[in-house]
Amino acid sequence: MSKLILHIDFDSFFASVAQQDTPSLRNKPIGVTATNGRNCIIAASREAKRYGIKSPSRTYDARRLCPDIQFVPADFVRYWEISKKFLRICSDYSPYVEVFSIDEVFIDATQTATLFGGVDTLIKKIKKRLHDEIGEYITASVGISHNKLLAKLASGLNKPNGSMRITPETVMEVYRKTKLTDICGIGPRIAARLAQMGISSPYQLQFVPLISLIAEFGTVEGKFLNDVGMGRDTCPVLPFTESSEPKSVSRSYCLAQNEYDQRRVLQNIYELCEELGIKLRRLHKKARVVGLSLRGTESFHTTHTSAYYMDTGKEFFQICLYLLNQSHVSAKTRVLPNIRGYVRQINIWIADLKNEQHLPTPLFLCDQKQQKVTQIIDKINRKYGDHTIRNGFLLYADKLTTVPNGFMADRYERSMLSVRKEL
Ligand SMILES: [Mg+2]
Repeated sequence: MSKLILHIDFDSFFASVAQQDTPSLRNKPIGVTATNGRNCIIAASREAKRYGIKSPSRTYDARRLCPDIQFVPADFVRYWEISKKFLRICSDYSPYVEVFSIDEVFIDATQTATLFGGVDTLIKKIKKRLHDEIGEYITASVGISHNKLLAKLASGLNKPNGSMRITPETVMEVYRKTKLTDICGIGPRIAARLAQMGISSPYQLQFVPLISLIAEFGTVEGKFLNDVGMGRDTCPVLPFTESSEPKSVSRSYCLAQNEYDQRRVLQNIYELCEELGIKLRRLHKKARVVGLSLRGTESFHTTHTSAYYMDTGKEFFQICLYLLNQSHVSAKTRVLPNIRGYVRQINIWIADLKNEQHLPTPLFLCDQKQQKVTQIIDKINRKYGDHTIRNGFLLYADKLTTVPNGFMADRYERSMLSVRKEL
């Protein structure tokens, strides 16, 4: 039996949320800027897109294209609130709802569409509920097909507020008219390499032998491109309620400006370590691999595997200091590392996660005491907000907020969604 897969994608989501919440911004070109004050637009309203403003782009360039553009800061906590409402609505129409990003889901409606009067009526019902329960200014586009690859392609071809269906009979007709980069998974780099092979549309891909694609792109990517050519995708819709165990937790942060002050850089590293510790303890897990990368005057990227499993920001920070001291970036004799020049971006990740109940309890009294202190801090922070109680080293430091990222890349939010069933 052929499957019935829907891909629902909000139109200009971040900008539409701002326009929904602040009616004076409606029908106007607006740019949503990154939360940390960098001059970067991460989303543009549909009115701004008409001026050729793309995301990401710089506020300076956007203003040149459209002097009237207004800027609003991103609010990921608000986006996530709406996203959860969206998931709750979709879950009423199928048990198979997959979170693809903060504003996109896949729904497998193969077995449920008839219960709601067929797929067209089902889509109308979902759209009406989005209108009534989320807001009239936030619209979504729907793609319908027999697999995820084509459903995702379809939703992007008829924006905004559209719906489009691709059937096995119409795939090639659609492929003739689409660009390679319209396909999820084909970026400009792959498209450029395909162009060198004389392929400029998804339609032409079906004529390229698998062996040539593998020779050029390797096994995984070669097979993927061959499947794209055939309009084939066998990946199932993975319900968010059965989200797989996270294998790592990460957080990257772009500083507000090129930061030369070493203490501030370290404070930011500490704060990010604290956030990872909070996330890990909420997952009831511990980790022993810590990775750190810095981008700035010098780029730095390294990991360390500890002998012990850890779950506190302080422990992760100590490993980061160790990593910095080990690197060529610093003089080995210093207690604090010497970071040369400026730092612009920090990325920290922790991996090799284990469930805490599978690990031995601390043997020493001081470790047990520390564990108790952490538990109390967690309790206070849960009540008053993350990072309310902070280490003295962070005195006067900027406070970061624990926010879901737009692509939900570290899977933390996805796992919390399934653990807490917090809809
Ligand atoms: Mg979208």
